[in-house]
Amino acid sequence: MIVGIDLGTTNSAVAIWRDGASVMVPNALGEYLTPSAVSIGEDGAVLIGRAARDRMATHPDRTVTSFKRRIGTRESVTLAGQTLDSEHCSALVLRALKADVEAFTGTTVSGAVVTVPAYFNDRQRKATRRAGELAGLPVRRLINEPTAAALAFGIAQRGDHEPFLVFDLGGGTFDVSIVEMFDGVVEVRASAGDNRLGGDDFNACLIDLARATLDPDGRLATLKPDHAEALLAQAAERARRALSEGDSTDLTVTADGVTLSVPVTAAAFEAHAQPLLQRIREPVLRSLRDSGIAAATLSEVVLVGGATRMPIVRRAVTRMFGRFPATTVHPDHAVAMGAAVQAGLLARDAALDEIRLTDVCPFTLGVDTSEPDGRGGFRTGLFSPIIERNSVVPISRVSQFSTVQNDQRQVHFGIYQGEARDVSGNVKLGEVRVPVPARPAGAVSIDCRFSYDSSGLLEIDVTVPDTGVTRNLVIVDEEDAPDPAELAKRREALAAMKFHPRDDAVNAALLARARRAYESFLGDRREAIGHMLGQFQNALETQDDRIIREAQAAFGAALDAIEGERFL
Ligand code: ADP
Ligand code: MG
Repeated sequence: MIVGIDLGTTNSAVAIWRDGASVMVPNALGEYLTPSAVSIGEDGAVLIGRAARDRMATHPDRTVTSFKRRIGTRESVTLAGQTLDSEHCSALVLRALKADVEAFTGTTVSGAVVTVPAYFNDRQRKATRRAGELAGLPVRRLINEPTAAALAFGIAQRGDHEPFLVFDLGGGTFDVSIVEMFDGVVEVRASAGDNRLGGDDFNACLIDLARATLDPDGRLATLKPDHAEALLAQAAERARRALSEGDSTDLTVTADGVTLSVPVTAAAFEAHAQPLLQRIREPVLRSLRDSGIAAATLSEVVLVGGATRMPIVRRAVTRMFGRFPATTVHPDHAVAMGAAVQAGLLARDAALDEIRLTDVCPFTLGVDTSEPDGRGGFRTGLFSPIIERNSVVPISRVSQFSTVQNDQRQVHFGIYQGEARDVSGNVKLGEVRVPVPARPAGAVSIDCRFSYDSSGLLEIDVTVPDTGVTRNLVIVDEEDAPDPAELAKRREALAAMKFHPRDDAVNAALLARARRAYESFLGDRREAIGHMLGQFQNALETQDDRIIREAQAAFGAALDAIEGERFL
C-alpha cells in the first residue's frame, strides 16, 4: 500500500486511499495529527509525537521540534549523546506514521507520497527523500503541499483556468500558492510566503496582550526564563484555541503552585493582532502579481493549516477577497488527504488518469550586468534576471547582452540566484568568461542561455554569435546524494536505536504529560499528581491489559481535572 504523508513543521499526518476516497489514519493515541517532535527517554528509547512534544517543557535537552526548518542542511542536534540531523528526525516521524498505518489497516506499507513546501529547493527535496529511505519508506513521489491541498479540494475535477489560491498558515510558517490545472497538469503558478509567521506568533501576541495584567507582581520573573516562556506559550496556545470557539476565555498560568489568570476577549485579541494580520496581505498580493491572476478570477480560496482555524484569520481572508473561503475539507487534514489522492493514483498505476504535477523554480536566476550611470561611468553589480522565480521547470531561456566598453576583449558573467536588485544581495553560484572581438562599445552581442531542470541542475551556455565562440558551465546543487556507504551507515545507526513498542504510546504520552504537570504545580496538586503517577506506574507493572486501560482513562481524566482539558 502507498500512503500520503504531510510531513509538517509542527504536525504531521497520514492518509490512505480507500474505496475512492482519502481516509485519515489515527495514531496510537487515536489522533489524526502527530506532533513532529522527537525525544529520547531516560531509558534511551525514542519517543515520537505528543509524548515527545510534552517533554519539550521538562526535557528540552533531550527533545527536538521544528526540525523541518533545517532539513537539507548539515546542522544536527545531540540528544542524550545521540547526534541526529533533520533527516534522521524526519525519518523517525515517517517511521511512526508508517507503523500507524500498518496497525490501522493490517497491511504493509510499501511506499509514500510525501508533501514538501512549494519553495523547497532541490537539496531540501532530496533530503526529504533520504529521510524516507532511512525510515524504510520509499518516497514514490514528492508533491508540493499546495498541490496536495488543491487535490483534496477537488481541483482535478475542475477544468483548465480554474485557479485555486491555497492559503496555508501553520505553526510557524505561512505559505500562499496559486495552483491551476492546465492541459491535465496541476501547476503551482506562484508561491510566496513568510517563513516566520504562524500560530506561534499569535501566541506571542496574546502573551504580549495579557502579560502586564496577568502578572503585575512579576512572579514569573522568578522562574527560569525558558521555563516561564514555555508555561506562557502553553497557556496562550490553550487560550487561543478557546478563542477559536468562543468570544472570551481566561489565559491561565500555574507556576510554583500559584495560579495567575486574566480574561481575554476575542475582540481585544483581534485588535492586538492587527500587525500580524497585516503581514498576511503582502505574500497574497505577491502570489497574485507573480501569477498574473486577478483575485476576482480565482475559482476557490482554500484554507489549510491549523492556524486558519482562528476566526480572526478567517475574517481577514474573507475581507481581503470579498468572499468566503472554501472549507469543505478540514484544514488540518487537507494536505495529507491530497497526498493520499496521489498515492491512490500511483497504486492503481493509472498512467492515463494520472494527474501530472509540475515543479516551479523557487527563485530567480540571472547574471550581473552594468548600466551607464548618466555621468559617463557605469553602475555595476546589477542583477539581470534570466529565469524568473515561479517559472515552471524544466525551462530554458536566453537573454542577449552587449559589450559596454570600446575594444573590450572579454565579457564576464557572474551567475546569481535571488530576488535583490543588487547582486550583492543574492547568492553567487559561479561565473563564466568569454572572449569577444575588439570593437566599439555595444557592437558585440552575446547570448546567455540558462537551462534549469527539476533536479536542480543549472546549465549556462554563453555564445558570441559573431565569432561562434561558446562557453558552457553546469552548476549542480552541491551536497548531492551521499555515497551509499554513508547512507548504509546512517540506516544502521537508526536501526540500532531503541523504540517504544507502539502499544506503549498512550502510556508514554500520559507519563510525559504528568511529569510536565508535576513540574508546574506545587502543594496539594503536585502531591496529588505525584501520587497518581505512582499508582499509574503500579498499574503498568501489572502488565494486565484491562487494569492498564482503566488506569489510563482514570489518570487522563484526573489530569484534565487538574490542568484543564488536554489540547493538541
Ligand atoms: P504545520 O503545517 O506548521 O506543521 P499545522 O498546520 O498543524 O502546522 O498548524 C499548527 C498550528 O495550528 C499551531 O500554531 C496551532 O496553534 C494552530 N491551531 C490548531 N488548532 C487550532 C485552533 N483550534 N485554533 C487556533 N489555532 C489552532
Ligand atoms: Mg502544514
